[in-house]
Amino acid sequence: MKILVPVKRVVDYNIKPRVKADGSGVDTTGVKMSMNPFDEIAVEEAVRLREKGAASEVVVVSVGVQKAQDTLRTAMAMGADRAILVLSEESPEPLAVAKVLRKLVEKEEPGLVILGKQAIDDDMNATGQMLAGLLGWGQGTFASKVEIADGHARVSREIDGGTEEVSLTLPAIITADLRLNEPRYASLPNIMKAKKKPLETIEAAELGVDMKPRLSVVSVAEPPERKAGIKVGSVGELVEKLRNEAKVI
Ligand code: AMP
Repeated sequence: MKILVPVKRVVDYNIKPRVKADGSGVDTTGVKMSMNPFDEIAVEEAVRLREKGAASEVVVVSVGVQKAQDTLRTAMAMGADRAILVLSEESPEPLAVAKVLRKLVEKEEPGLVILGKQAIDDDMNATGQMLAGLLGWGQGTFASKVEIADGHARVSREIDGGTEEVSLTLPAIITADLRLNEPRYASLPNIMKAKKKPLETIEAAELGVDMKPRLSVVSVAEPPERKAGIKVGSVGELVEKLRNEAKVI
């Protein structure tokens, strides 16, 4: 079984994003970019499934600018076998990405697609669900455990009240949540080896996908600054402040 893992290049999670002066988005000039952290978890899970013998090949794909090939090389240094870069503008919308992925699924015929549950730049949490809808496949989103057996994926999903177990007939879509695993670091020898692994580049237009944006950004602003908290001396003082200052009781 082949596993397809879509990985997105996003602003590194350690960086405090700066809003552009005109409020049209986040300024990415000169900012460190990395693989979306949930996608690292997705890559790790796919590589572990191959190591366990449940899969034979892990193919990573990114839809974005030329620089996204660095992200694909990182995924291959973690253990993915080969990569596909679909060239488009920076940060395409989830629907466009899902349509590109559908085309690649038709071409590559994977048994499983493991995505991140969300990309930390836009926090859309939509691509995996849209892809499942376009393909008519079952989906196990927010996965914290995955087991493959007898043509099925058994997925534990993180839900508000705890966890839910679902059994998906393969082929299927899974999106990775934080507790699924702890991704490995790419070792230097593996980073060197990854440079020689195959990376195919395709133009989005070649796939016949309409990448036209359907969403427009009205404005992007910094969240209001939070005032520092205080420590109260007693329960009585807390109740007094909740009643008279915060006026919530
Ligand atoms: P989102 O729906 O944008 O929050 O993204 C959810 C997941 O879809 C990500 O964690 C990635 O696995 C995948 N994804 C989103 N955008 C891209 C992209 N441009 N290239 C590759 N994968 C993507």
